[in-house]
Amino acid sequence: MKGCILKRLKSENTVLSEKQLGKEFDISESSVQNYIHELQEAGYDISRSPAGYRLINAPDVLFPWEFEKREALIHYFPEVDSTMDVARKMAKDHCPHFTVVIADRQTKGRGRLKRKWISEKGGLYFTIVLRPDVPISMAHTVNFGASLSLARILQDHFALHARVKWPNDIFVDDKKISGLLSEMETDEDRIVFVNIGIGINVNNDPASEEPNATSLKSLLGKNVLRKTILSLFLDEFENSLIPSTIPAIMNQWKQYTMTLGRDVRIVTSRETTEGTAIDIDESGALLLKLHDGTIKKILYGDCFIR
Ligand code: ATP
Repeated sequence: MKGCILKRLKSENTVLSEKQLGKEFDISESSVQNYIHELQEAGYDISRSPAGYRLINAPDVLFPWEFEKREALIHYFPEVDSTMDVARKMAKDHCPHFTVVIADRQTKGRGRLKRKWISEKGGLYFTIVLRPDVPISMAHTVNFGASLSLARILQDHFALHARVKWPNDIFVDDKKISGLLSEMETDEDRIVFVNIGIGINVNNDPASEEPNATSLKSLLGKNVLRKTILSLFLDEFENSLIPSTIPAIMNQWKQYTMTLGRDVRIVTSRETTEGTAIDIDESGALLLKLHDGTIKKILYGDCFIR
């Protein structure tokens, strides 16, 4: 109901009385009052005059009703341990494709290999549950599609020179602005779900704890609405997952990477390999030209650009 009232206030941009709102939504005038009070508590600037209510300003909140056409698939929490954990539970409970779990803060945000992802207020933290209709051998394209979509919207809508570091972190001016993480569950030869978790530094500033980090706010010198970034990203990513566009992902991704053509060091728990990153193959593996001229296929590892 709060979302409905808000939608009316937004669409009308004029004063709406308690009586009018109560009649429209078939609720009492005191219920209208209560809902308006709750919206004000949530940060919406709604003025009250004898003629009624007017929406003055909407804060940067991530409630489901802020994402109109996706409302039913958005699950917002002020604080969670990790959106990945919440989303995993939902995925196991059969939530639909493109369910999105969002949090203002994570107390145990994580990156790959259980590394910590600093998740203070002001950043954008979410996990999307996907049930893509692609064979397991193509699952990686979904991850590449996510990092491609994010780099694109940072470049196209915020004029940032965003580049993806293989396999999927996003950097601007050699500083990390976003990290992506994915978890997949399969059933014999079929993907049950792929969850993609994304942390983006927006109006937070993790640089004091993580010197190589940056944020939209520090790059642009102003606050940016997280709900705008999320809406743009979800639209872009959804488009990239249309069956006819999926085959183009890997080639397009290569145009947004900072890794190809660079001398890199790949570190795994077993070995360190150095060489020049010359290509990404169809499976998402990095092809390294070693110093002796041989080509080595790298499936995973920490990638350091030298
Ligand atoms: P790499 O940066 O080499 O790709 P990684 O792939 O393990 O490392 P992730 O798993 O995406 O990175 O994220 C975890 C790492 O990111 C942490 O170990 C830390 O160095 C860094 N980090 C943690 N929180 C943030 C943040 N909010 N912004 C930028 N970097 C962060």
